[in-house]
Amino acid sequence: MLKGLMQDRPLLISSLIEHAATCHPRGEIVSRTSEGPIHRCTYADIQRRSKQVAQALTALGVQPGERVATLAWNGYRHMELYYGVSGMGAVLHTINPRLFPEQIEYIANHAEDQYLFFDLSFVPLLERLAGRLSSVRGFIVMTDRAHLPECSIPGLLCYEDLIAGQTGEYAWPQFDETAASSLCYTSGTTGNPKGVLYSHRSSVLHSWAACAVDGLALGAGETALLVVPMFHVNAWGMPYAGAMSGVRLVMPGPALDGKSVYDLMRDEKVTLALGVPTVWLMLLQHVDAAGLEPKEELCLRRVVIGGSSAPRAMSECFETRFGAFVVHAWGMTEMSPVGTVCNLLPKHAGCSLEQRLAIQEKQGRAVYGVDMTIVDDDGAPLPRDGRSAGHLLVRGPWIASAYFRDEGSVLDADGFFDTGDVATIDADGYMQITDRSKDVIKSGGEWISSIALENAAIAHPAVAEAAVIGAPHPKWQERPLLIIVRKPAQELTREAMLQFLAGRVAAWWLPDDVAFVEELPHTATGKLHKLKLRERFKDYRLPGA
Ligand code: ADP
Repeated sequence: MLKGLMQDRPLLISSLIEHAATCHPRGEIVSRTSEGPIHRCTYADIQRRSKQVAQALTALGVQPGERVATLAWNGYRHMELYYGVSGMGAVLHTINPRLFPEQIEYIANHAEDQYLFFDLSFVPLLERLAGRLSSVRGFIVMTDRAHLPECSIPGLLCYEDLIAGQTGEYAWPQFDETAASSLCYTSGTTGNPKGVLYSHRSSVLHSWAACAVDGLALGAGETALLVVPMFHVNAWGMPYAGAMSGVRLVMPGPALDGKSVYDLMRDEKVTLALGVPTVWLMLLQHVDAAGLEPKEELCLRRVVIGGSSAPRAMSECFETRFGAFVVHAWGMTEMSPVGTVCNLLPKHAGCSLEQRLAIQEKQGRAVYGVDMTIVDDDGAPLPRDGRSAGHLLVRGPWIASAYFRDEGSVLDADGFFDTGDVATIDADGYMQITDRSKDVIKSGGEWISSIALENAAIAHPAVAEAAVIGAPHPKWQERPLLIIVRKPAQELTREAMLQFLAGRVAAWWLPDDVAFVEELPHTATGKLHKLKLRERFKDYRLPGA
């Protein structure tokens, strides 16, 4: 083989912030802080201060490859850690504070975190946990001296003091691009959480895909609100992709309620917002309750929705009331996370809103770098006909090959990773998730999609949230049970709900019963907690069962 003669420069995360500081030095990072006020800085500031972070960590004795953890909301200091920790060759371990304390203890010990940076909101949590995190040599609270809390955390350091002692005169080390850069644990809804260990190369390649027009189409003209947390798959890679393309970033800090998100969108003239459906539900409820006119008040052009399926009713509401286009996307922690993005093709130009919403309900087309296929139970490939549903397998340079400190590969003989999702793919390449494989309802040998039923139910104006699980049935093995949270002060009966669904789903998909609850359980990443629901309804008897 004849070798090419191009430069062999490693793809390192530090190169992203260097690029932003050179080409978008005044690109702004706006943060709502834990202390309260709005903070403004630039990519040039983040570059300088992340170098101070790298120097401070070196002074503390952190070695390349060692893990440095964060328990923090979205904000500029967290972003400095993204670049400072990974840039110096250590591994940034972003911990999801919504996990149970026992899970946090498990993953911090499993990762052997050396230092832990945390926001003021997590002082009480760490007062309980600090003594049990055996590898952690020091705790750094992400604030200044004036806001230093009175607390019992041993060896507590103050972030601003720590970096104030450093000059920022620092050259990023150059090393192999396959070195680990960051670590994120899956939520562990079943069993212990598993660590996904990203590399510099995978993170930079993933950023390119995220920036591309058929990805998230990022550029310096965009003001992006990162509602998706930086402890959830690196905020879908936005802190990296944002620096690559000079996006103005808006970070909401701990305030994720509908009013706070809306006000930030309005005040900062946000054009693009990214988050999971549960936070958008809160936003839409706020808009309804307060009688707001988002189309008049906001500059929002696009909303990226992923993590769970974006119901058609939600896309329609963003379209008609906000004048914003919903970009449905799918991925997972093991995929960095972006796998597919639902952008339109030229042939859709003349589509009606109805036709377009039907396309937007799909999770979208694979971005370059993600090789995707669906197979049946025996592993045989299924046709791309938009109807055949099968196990969704993926492979690519930003998809996990194994879990951290876990024996063995997670890939099949052809190098594919089984996502655990069940999906269809149509002739244009649009993929649609029909279910998690463990959530599909198996009725008389056929599969019923719980997601499709939930999305149909949520289109009813009195429904705030809907979940569908399979309940045991003597004849059909399983039948769907629909569980509903009503909107405040709304009436809705079982009969009215079933009647509403009757024209919208196949007759044999109609739920056998409807239960009304005050609240549905969610996982630490905002998804419906189906396992908990199944436990709660395990003795439920369907009518006629
Ligand atoms: P994330 O929540 O960032 O996607 P997780 O690893 O916690 O990462 O969850 C991944 C799973 O979430 C996927 O395997 C899929 O089941 C579900 N998921 C993600 N995006 C979507 C989507 N747009 N529609 C339906 N399910 C989704």
